Amino acid sequence: MEINVGNVIIGSKFIPVQTMIKNHISNLDKTINKLNKLSNIGCDIVRVAIPDKKSAISLKNILKYSTIPIVADIHFDYKLAIMSIQAGVHKIRINPGNIINKKYIKNIIDCLKEYNIPVRIGINSGSLPVHLIKKYNNYILKVMIESAKEEIKFFEKYGYGKIVLSFKSSNVKDMINVNKFAKNEFDFPLHIGVTEAGDIIDGTIKNTAGLSILLNQGIGDTIRVSLTSSEENEVKVGKKILESLGLRESNIDIISCPTCGRTEVDIEKIVNKLKQVISKIRLKKNIKIAVMGCVVNGPGEAKNSDFGVACGKNKSIIFKNGKKIKVIKNDLILDELLLVLNEYL
Ligand code: SF4
Repeated sequence: MEINVGNVIIGSKFIPVQTMIKNHISNLDKTINKLNKLSNIGCDIVRVAIPDKKSAISLKNILKYSTIPIVADIHFDYKLAIMSIQAGVHKIRINPGNIINKKYIKNIIDCLKEYNIPVRIGINSGSLPVHLIKKYNNYILKVMIESAKEEIKFFEKYGYGKIVLSFKSSNVKDMINVNKFAKNEFDFPLHIGVTEAGDIIDGTIKNTAGLSILLNQGIGDTIRVSLTSSEENEVKVGKKILESLGLRESNIDIISCPTCGRTEVDIEKIVNKLKQVISKIRLKKNIKIAVMGCVVNGPGEAKNSDFGVACGKNKSIIFKNGKKIKVIKNDLILDELLLVLNEYL
């Protein structure tokens, strides 16, 4: 099933990458600045927290300036969901564990129908309905699935089916298992990710481990890598996961060696600088660049790349289309690589 979130489709072959704005959106300048940056690095959908009236009111301005579809994240207060939908948001996310009164859910459904936008029903292992926890004796996976079933039944009873589902846990294995389960149970698109995954290192590893297993089995229609880090990092990691699995074309692929006792130059510095420069360029074609610490693997990697460098003790070899084109002094490596990049562009 395909669901439109603004101009982005969830449920097609293309897997949108999402992130969530980490500040209160009443800070308009900060939020719009972030949205522009996220748009430039290819973020597909952005979620914003709506914890209070002030943020629901700010939503209108955010929507005016954003080129990326916006999802309003609502907990506890159904009135904030109504305000967000009326502001023109492209999707809302609610958690059935914390809007308990069905009368209020019905109010949200009526409004969703009127504005014809989708909802994500986000089931989190940390906030599950108490009656289901008791009924299934704290068997969390079962509780998560049954919680979604209850909610879907209620939405469908009122003729509403524009639903995206998510089943999140900070436990990677639980997240994998519940989503496998969900794929068999439901036809709705799945938003996947490991929640509260930790800092840039832990969070990247946990999300890569969890998401790769699911995506490789065709499970997952949109992803969010949750990190205690910037929105940009969440998007970069999410995109890299998709690229690594061949689910999205890589615009720039830098192959760089891990360095060892043979390395004579600061490879990390060259790679970082190269990435910095390249991130500011909008490329029309995909390119692969090899930055290698010596001639052991350098020529081999360079053969499969558009261009690259194999660094030596005092001099280094620049390759283009697999062929050696120049031998240069090591202090010119970055300049030469940028020169070849410019020629290439
Ligand atoms: Fe070491 Fe050369 Fe391999 Fe880099 S490419 S890790 S310098 S052997």
